[in-house]
Amino acid sequence: MAWDFSTEPEWQEKLDWVQRFCDDEVEPLGHIFPHAARLPDPKVRELVRSLQQQVKDQGLWALFLDEELGGPGLGQLKLALLNEILGRYPAAPQLFGAAAPDTGNIEMLAAYGTEEQKERWMVPLLNQEMFSAYSMTEPQGGSDPNLFTTSAMRDGDEWVINGEKWFTSAGRVADILFVMCTNGMFVVPRETPGVEIMPEPRTHNHIKYTDVRVPLDHLLGPEDGAKVLAQKRLGGGRIHHAMRTIAQCKLAFDMMCERALSRESHGNIIAEHQMVQQKIAESYASINMLRLYVLETAWKIDNTSTQETRTDIAAVKFTMARVLREVSFNALHIHGALGTTDLTPLQAMYAAAPTMGIADGVDEVHTATVARRVLKGYTPHEGYWPTEYLPAKREQAWAKFEPKFAADPELRKTAEGWRGYFEKRSRT
Ligand SMILES: Cc1cc2nc3c(=O)[nH]c(=O)nc-3n(C[C@H](O)[C@H](O)[C@H](O)COP(=O)(O)OP(=O)(O)OC[C@H]3O[C@@H](n4cnc5c(N)ncnc54)[C@H](O)[C@@H]3O)c2cc1C
Repeated sequence: MAWDFSTEPEWQEKLDWVQRFCDDEVEPLGHIFPHAARLPDPKVRELVRSLQQQVKDQGLWALFLDEELGGPGLGQLKLALLNEILGRYPAAPQLFGAAAPDTGNIEMLAAYGTEEQKERWMVPLLNQEMFSAYSMTEPQGGSDPNLFTTSAMRDGDEWVINGEKWFTSAGRVADILFVMCTNGMFVVPRETPGVEIMPEPRTHNHIKYTDVRVPLDHLLGPEDGAKVLAQKRLGGGRIHHAMRTIAQCKLAFDMMCERALSRESHGNIIAEHQMVQQKIAESYASINMLRLYVLETAWKIDNTSTQETRTDIAAVKFTMARVLREVSFNALHIHGALGTTDLTPLQAMYAAAPTMGIADGVDEVHTATVARRVLKGYTPHEGYWPTEYLPAKREQAWAKFEPKFAADPELRKTAEGWRGYFEKRSRT
């Protein structure tokens, strides 16, 4: 029987280890040293390295790379089951060697880098000896890549890059920047003269590139290949975000249920009020629908390709953003005033929920992609009436039954009775 929703026992054992490790080690580290993996303090680095070693010993390091890109070939379905645990703990992706934006940049290097480029950048990124950022969006427009103007001009044995980028996450602390130009994707060391990081925004940086010179071998992939490389990067990233979003929704849901059973109002515990029950039930159903959709999409990627699964990846992208907004709101609301403070994870989760509908492409663009791609499977009907127009369907059925009626007049009489009924009903 192919429709099986169970996890194979060996992988379940690994997942159980991951859950224990995250509860016992990752969560406490995150509470004491947020962003621990990026801190230069040697003592913190030692702590981080020792946890990362445990992950490596379990064979769970950097599992996001496909087999054809030199990764372990775990597959998206298993990765989804892993990520729906990791997504609950902000420190986990770094400790498992699978944190954005490095993951997407590593995927581009793995797919399009020369051996030398892989050696120079991909290996240190995988080992977290180096960190990267991705510079695509520009101040004048993000959703439409045709509005981007940053470009590279060849000058002797160098490329000279000019332009302005905006919302480059962690650009300020990156060692290398992957800069999407109109004529290719370039790797730019942050320290290169002409790279100017503006003071605001602090986390997602505004960067000016003025006469930035890089050697010819800093072009990644073919000239004019930037859009293809960007798709490679973002396709995988979107489904990985969705996997981790399930974990966030589940955290909000667990908190919502615990709180609903713990407080009283107007003579009942609040879980007994029907409007609270509605929020719980709807959140439960939404999370399960999202989870099944993410897992099915991951399964489709494993059995076809990212390219062939584009419609579902886009649909998952805006669905996860909506479910996170709804569920984090419900959880925050059920916590009353406490939910509005920064004393639980809920306020930050709800405040960040809208970013899921913007990062990696705004909801509207993905929604339009889904509709456009789905519609390719349909054709307009001919004439005035849709294919499912019932009188026409009945006439076709009548023609099909004609030989049976010819052989059995009693059957025809019964059918005529029904036809009379339908004709009378359609007149009223
Ligand atoms: C948390 C976060 C991290 C990010 N990290 C990075 C990063 O590391 N590197 C990077 O390069 N970028 C990054 N981005 C930027 C992101 O890629 C852009 O925000 C996104 O592409 C949208 O571009 P924009 O913000 O300019 O919005 P706009 O393109 O100006 O869109 C604004 C609004 O206009 C409407 N709209 C736009 N297009 C359409 C359409 N076709 N149909 C209908 N309505 C439309 C929508 O309502 C949309 O929300 C990040 C964004 C966020 C929120």
